[in-house]
Amino acid sequence: MDSQVIPTELVEGNDNKCEDNVDNKLNEFKIVCKKCSCVILRPNQGKFITRKIELPMVSTTKGEESVRETLDDHLEVDDIFTYENMGFSNTVEGFKYLVCAECEYGPLGLMNSNEKKSYLSLDRIEQLKDS
Ligand SMILES: [Zn+2]
Repeated sequence: MDSQVIPTELVEGNDNKCEDNVDNKLNEFKIVCKKCSCVILRPNQGKFITRKIELPMVSTTKGEESVRETLDDHLEVDDIFTYENMGFSNTVEGFKYLVCAECEYGPLGLMNSNEKKSYLSLDRIEQLKDS
């Protein structure tokens, strides 16, 4: 007898892989500058993500920009033109830092010049929960 080739496509009883990635919520509130309160991002334009991103500390005095900290919580924004008001630093090692367009408070986050995505650190911005 010829060996029968039985197609055994194991259809494992619909392992309903519920998308539990509901983590990626959009920002519900307006994002404003902590310092001057100008609007940086409108609601539903950024996605909450958790990722370690290193940023220089907010420099209070000039010339102390070498100190960095690692931040975990960010808003991912696909297109820099989504922002209402945003300033950008010069490119440093492939990254641009985001600063408030009005008062230059920052860095608020960074943009990878290759990806075009940018990341706003939640620690550096204010979510305006207006009624
Ligand atoms: Zn500002």
